[in-house]
Amino acid sequence: MAEPRLHTLLAVVVIAIGVVVAIALRYISAPYGRHGREGWGPTAPAWLGWMVMESPAALGFLYVYVQGRHANELISLVFAGLWLTHYGYRSFIYPLGLAKGKRIPITVMGMALAFNFLNAYLNARWISHLGDYSGSWMLDPRLWIGVLLFMGGLLVNRRADARLIALKRRGEGYQVPRGGLFEYVVSPNYLGEIVQWFGWALATWSISGLAFALFTSANLAPRARTHLDWYREKFPDFPAERRALIPFVW
Ligand code: NDP
Repeated sequence: MAEPRLHTLLAVVVIAIGVVVAIALRYISAPYGRHGREGWGPTAPAWLGWMVMESPAALGFLYVYVQGRHANELISLVFAGLWLTHYGYRSFIYPLGLAKGKRIPITVMGMALAFNFLNAYLNARWISHLGDYSGSWMLDPRLWIGVLLFMGGLLVNRRADARLIALKRRGEGYQVPRGGLFEYVVSPNYLGEIVQWFGWALATWSISGLAFALFTSANLAPRARTHLDWYREKFPDFPAERRALIPFVW
């Protein structure tokens, strides 16, 4: 099969996996973090698990990217910079801030690892080889709106994660987060991440970008809902107006 066809097929597979994940997460919560529980087999330290499962998204991406025929072109390099800014942090810095003693099931790690390999190939190959951003793409509003959405989402995601980790580090157990977007939704980090990948999809105008944005939404929206239910159950005075993911709406 020719590579462009295989690439499209694999992106459709990612979308299909997203549909399955969204349905499954309506009935079971992903067993890590505060929703971790017995019955999911052997576990590993969470910091190591995050590093191992996320690193293909950085290193695998880089490996595929450098082999592309457009690898040295400006717009491709800008995309690679955005991707690696996110995944360099997520793979090698974020895990170091996680609470020591926390564990993650190896099954969860394995699934994320496989997904990250596939997703890294799809996106790196598109931006450095199969896609073509020469010509007028530099002047296209989709590029610049997408890049702005990506950077805005990344900022929201980073700030919210940092606030949650700081809360955790206080060592007083789980707390109700306050301030900023936390006054409106329980998971601004997920909201930021979803906006970020839709920005990526728009800027790269690719099926691989769209597939990843849809997958991220399918994965994180149900988890935000699970977080909201968890807060409401655990904290009787939890602010009633606070939503899961979208301020005032859901
Ligand atoms: P969570 O919001 O569940 O947790 C983030 C960290 O903050 C964890 O260490 C958590 O502890 C801690 N924390 C959360 N809430 C509280 C609280 N109320 N009080 C004290 N500590 C708290 O995020 P995830 O772990 O699910 O995800 C981490 C990052 O990875 C996010 O930025 C997310 O967007 C991204 N991600 C992206 C995915 C994708 O499909 N693109 C998939 C999954 C994650 P604990 O672990 O004990 O809950």
